[in-house]
Amino acid sequence: MKRVMIILFHSLGLSVLASSLVWMLMTFITIFTNSSVFFIEPNKLILLFEMFLTVYGILYLSYLYSKIPKLLKQTKNTEKPLTLWQKVQLKLTGCTFLRWEKRKGWTDYLPIYLVKCNKHGLFEDYPHGYKEYFVCPLCWQNQKR
Ligand SMILES: [Zn+2]
Repeated sequence: MKRVMIILFHSLGLSVLASSLVWMLMTFITIFTNSSVFFIEPNKLILLFEMFLTVYGILYLSYLYSKIPKLLKQTKNTEKPLTLWQKVQLKLTGCTFLRWEKRKGWTDYLPIYLVKCNKHGLFEDYPHGYKEYFVCPLCWQNQKR
């Protein structure tokens, strides 16, 4: 039921925008051929309906604009879900490779792993030292105290 409302909301909004473009095109063609344009709408009810549609179109357009920042955020935040192999690996070995990353102060790219801490759950880290161990940030904080 809710889905039907959403589809109606978008299709009405888009058709109002589309028809306003067609309206503009027709106006321009009329100006081009007759060098001026003059509209008469004798029926006040239809005029009222058209005004309502125009207001709806403006509201719909501002709704679309308000969605843009959210869309940009979503495309920026594309954390890939773990593959089946990564999940299996995480369960068996306690860590799985995620991606290569170069952070500030690093001379080269380092492999970033997703590691499981028995106390605190999952965290991201790169292998430390030549033994290539991982340090859970929360465990590290507790140790320092
Ligand atoms: Zn921990």
